[in-house]
Amino acid sequence: MIKRSFFGFTTPRIQYLPIPGNVTAPAVSKQPENATLLVPCPAGDVDNQLAKKGDRVKTGQKISLAAAPGAYGIASLSGTLSSIDRFPGEAGQEYTAVTITATGEEALDDAFSSKCEPTLETATAFLGCLPGAPSFEAFTDPEKPIHTIIVSGMDADLLVMSAQYTLSFRLEEIKAGIANLKAITGVENIVLATAPDALHGFGEIGASVVAMEAAYPAGLPRLIVQKVLGEEIPNDKGFQDLGVSFFTAEAVASIGRAFADKQLPLEKIITFIDKEGNRSLVSARIGTPIADIFKQHDIRLKEKDRIILGGPMTGHSIFSAQYPVQPNTDAILLQDREDVSLTSDYPCINCGDCVRMCPARIQINLLVRFLEAGLYEEAAEAYDLDACLECGLCSYVCVSKIPIFQYIKLAKHELERMAMEEVAAEETAIEETTDE
Ligand code: SF4
Ligand code: SF4
Repeated sequence: MIKRSFFGFTTPRIQYLPIPGNVTAPAVSKQPENATLLVPCPAGDVDNQLAKKGDRVKTGQKISLAAAPGAYGIASLSGTLSSIDRFPGEAGQEYTAVTITATGEEALDDAFSSKCEPTLETATAFLGCLPGAPSFEAFTDPEKPIHTIIVSGMDADLLVMSAQYTLSFRLEEIKAGIANLKAITGVENIVLATAPDALHGFGEIGASVVAMEAAYPAGLPRLIVQKVLGEEIPNDKGFQDLGVSFFTAEAVASIGRAFADKQLPLEKIITFIDKEGNRSLVSARIGTPIADIFKQHDIRLKEKDRIILGGPMTGHSIFSAQYPVQPNTDAILLQDREDVSLTSDYPCINCGDCVRMCPARIQINLLVRFLEAGLYEEAAEAYDLDACLECGLCSYVCVSKIPIFQYIKLAKHELERMAMEEVAAEETAIEETTDE
């Protein structure tokens, strides 16, 4: 039985901070000497990969590591592949890190420009690593046709303004990208989700426009999809099951620019939030080590300062400033070591603050007891773990400083891993039965 909250009646609200009226264009970071691409290629068998250490690449060249459609990166520098190594990502994701060391003059690859037609084949082959990380995988499954594309002009996390900047200053590229998306996918129903104060003034953009609420976490993809569809998404359904595909505004602007320029854009717009909470925009090539951005913008780190990728609610810490900018790196937040809020081993005091904040109405005060004990299946069964939107509000308000959000992410990862192991075991059993 799924249990819902009995606590609280009014949910406290945290408002998104709009982009300042006097925001300046992103400060462009210099071309790095080394760029590292994180390719979602979990096989990790470096010896069998298609690209090899020592290969020379041009800027914009596709670097394939395996035959699987998404197992590639796009070179953001001209140079030599100086290393190809396994790279463990957050929550058990596996990547292969491909580092390019710049050598000689920059040269542009022409494979994309020679096939520069907005078709699904071209999009799948070349566009998956554009800034904003557009994904076309959902359009390749005839069993689950997509009828609606949602483009988010909302920044998912608080303080971030990368999407708002794109929506405000790259509207022509977004319009072109929407036209390209229609040609690529055949989907005519495109909806742009935006903050309420940005609802007007788009003109004819080829999409209908929907305003989200100004309160966090309205910009999270799941809540945007719910609002557009006008119905709650069942816990066991993904966007694809509902016939929906989701893109960020930056991804759509990048698609528009790619076909207009006949060249793949490789510069990511990032919101930088400094230790005082001041926000600015930076543009850096995908693969640039974050340390390079800090150095160029004269940002000094002290020992134990915390670097967070993403915003204050859902971002995650990284342990090296050498971590590279990725197509979905929307924000970098720097926290002074004095301001780092440490977790504790205090027990839950049943105050109910987390439950009052939870937009999914989960009874977190009870859920957390199961998560702390590693009882993930029981937590999912009894306390609606799957309904969690991963907004981080529960951790933010917890007076006992319990890392609830981290527990939830770990639990979801473990449940996914167990489900995959189960499927693999079933497949092996079927194969063995067939062989007999
Ligand atoms: S992270 Fe999940 S459980 Fe926590 S408040 Fe958000 S939706 Fe609720
Ligand atoms: S906010 Fe923390 S202490 Fe309060 S009920 Fe939730 S988990 Fe327990």
